[in-house]
Amino acid sequence: MKVCQGCGCENDDSAERCRRCGTKIEALEKSESQGDLKFDEPMPTSDKWRLWLGAWGLVAAATLVINPSSILVAPFFPIGLLVWLPHGEEKAIAGWMIGAWVIGWIFYGLLTTIMFKAKKSGVFFILFVIFFTLLILNIAGCQRLMQTASGIH
Ligand SMILES: [Zn+2]
Repeated sequence: MKVCQGCGCENDDSAERCRRCGTKIEALEKSESQGDLKFDEPMPTSDKWRLWLGAWGLVAAATLVINPSSILVAPFFPIGLLVWLPHGEEKAIAGWMIGAWVIGWIFYGLLTTIMFKAKKSGVFFILFVIFFTLLILNIAGCQRLMQTASGIH
């Protein structure tokens, strides 16, 4: 049974319009679900790309605004995450020397792969929040490291 949104009377499942008032039943059902967040529905790959590239675009923009010269050390970007560990600044400098930033890029690559493999938009959203939080911590860590480094010289 379908309940008419217009007058509340019951109609057959096959009915396109209400038998009493003539309201379109299908159209009403669709418009009702449009406002919901569709966490169970597949996430289009184009939307994933838009969010992913947008996040990296913000990283690049934030870096250029805060300290344009830090774009020169962009290959070492993941090192910024190490700053948040205990004695992080020493670990970051050691990590930079032993090439731990390569592992950082592999980690970001894996996270990206999982994000793009996630079918449900809800799963993608959770992964994107983790990814975005890491990026913000990473930018902040890099700036902290750059300040420390410039203090040494
Ligand atoms: Zn009706």
